[in-house]
Amino acid sequence: MTNIVLFGKPGAGKGTQADFLKIKYNLFHISTGDLFRFNISNKTSLGNLAKAYIDNGDLVPDKVTIEMLKECVEANFKSEGFIFDGFPRTISQAKVLDQFLQKKKISISAMISLEVDEEILIKRLIDRGKISGRTDDMDESKVRNRFREYNMKTSILQDYYKKQNKFHRISGIGSIEKINSRLTRLIDSFL
Ligand code: ADP
Repeated sequence: MTNIVLFGKPGAGKGTQADFLKIKYNLFHISTGDLFRFNISNKTSLGNLAKAYIDNGDLVPDKVTIEMLKECVEANFKSEGFIFDGFPRTISQAKVLDQFLQKKKISISAMISLEVDEEILIKRLIDRGKISGRTDDMDESKVRNRFREYNMKTSILQDYYKKQNKFHRISGIGSIEKINSRLTRLIDSFL
């Protein structure tokens, strides 16, 4: 199984690139952000619980996110591998993911970081908010809070995967197709 963690700040293009990679490598794409938004629009109890955190640009508590992630992996275990997009976002999520995959006799193949400067990202997110209507994209103070959360809790995951020799970075600036081919070149080098 090929299991890729796509990593990067909010707006770095993880979802866009995951849509390409899942077809190219026949992987199942799990986006925790999309799962939360699906639950929010369907007004499930999980959605109701997550909504306030997401609207403020805060991370949803680990316990809730981890449960949701595990269920999604279990339900799609027959696939050839996974793209994890937006998960893990904290050290404890990364540890749980490793243990969970180990029990299932699989592991993370690589973590790929899409790197884009913060000022470019803030502009991308505010522009996206005008089109998508995502509440967490519409207000600059919430967007900045997401970056704070990322810098405090998520960016440290680079070291976690570096220690396992699984960390890779590519530039997330340029056309979507250019970034597609940077990713393909990298993934083909370790497949
Ligand atoms: P982006 O990467 O653009 O910030 P996502 O769609 O991945 O957006 O996530 C949107 C929001 O969903 C996050 O700001 C956070 O509140 C919540 N969320 C998504 N994934 C996680 C996670 N792994 N742990 C905690 N909260 C999460």
